[in-house]
Amino acid sequence: MTDNTGSPVAIVTGSSRGIGLAVAHALAARGMRIVLNCSSERSLEGTQAQARAIASEHGTEAIAVAANVADADEAAALAAAALDAFGRIDVLVNNAGITRDGLAMRMAPEDFDAVVDVNLKGAFYCAKAVMRPMTKQRSGRIINMSSVSGVYGNPGQANYAASKAGVIGLTKALAKELARKGVTVNAIAPGFIETDMTAALSDDQKAHAQERIAAGRLGQPEDVAALAAFLASDEAAYITGQVICVDGGLSL
Ligand code: NAP
Repeated sequence: MTDNTGSPVAIVTGSSRGIGLAVAHALAARGMRIVLNCSSERSLEGTQAQARAIASEHGTEAIAVAANVADADEAAALAAAALDAFGRIDVLVNNAGITRDGLAMRMAPEDFDAVVDVNLKGAFYCAKAVMRPMTKQRSGRIINMSSVSGVYGNPGQANYAASKAGVIGLTKALAKELARKGVTVNAIAPGFIETDMTAALSDDQKAHAQERIAAGRLGQPEDVAALAAFLASDEAAYITGQVICVDGGLSL
């Protein structure tokens, strides 16, 4: 265990790329020490390089840990690695997520399970792993990445929408359990954000999405990261159990 009195420590799951990486940068820019996470050893080298870049760009400390959040033991090991490296955990951003889109009639049960395992169970396992240190220090922030798909539903995403709606229920229940212990729990529901996850969409699908977005553009990972940084801050201490859309008006 190292210094547990230094600057706040944030774990961001699924931060090898995309929204998670932008969140890691935003928290590091506010002086936090960062634990980046990727799904397996396969992406660890690249994630370690991202950790070095974050540390030098923002003048903080950052490490990378490979852990499959869908595995309760690996989620616990991720929290243990954070405590081992930095001695405390102040912020958990449950961002790791996957899609396995398809119409429900043709959706294989394994595709339903895989999405729920990562997106919903993974968030629960990671939250569970940080609760004790957070409640002991009587402060903490848990930020769960939901989706407008989880709030409103989306055809072709029965598994994903169910997992992200589940994340909202998880957020509200944990918010009630932890509020008196100084820990807030909130959810962010992004709309269409330009990352690897949405890169698979056809140009037609992107154009159709853009038409429905009041702001007239797809979102960038930084649009989401700015809200995560606010929810992680001291100023957000009285906000808990909320679901906030970052979607350029898509859901209006
Ligand atoms: P992305 O670019 O596909 O990145 C996904 C991240 O999650 C990667 O870092 C990946 O790590 C990690 N990951 C996947 N499975 C994991 C596992 N089992 N354990 C640990 N990490 C895992 O996705 P994104 O677009 O940034 O999305 C981030 C979050 O925002 C997700 O929860 C997603 O559902 C949500 N969201 C995205 C959008 C959007 O439009 N992009 C909209 C609404 C909500 P590896 O590199 O190791 O694979």
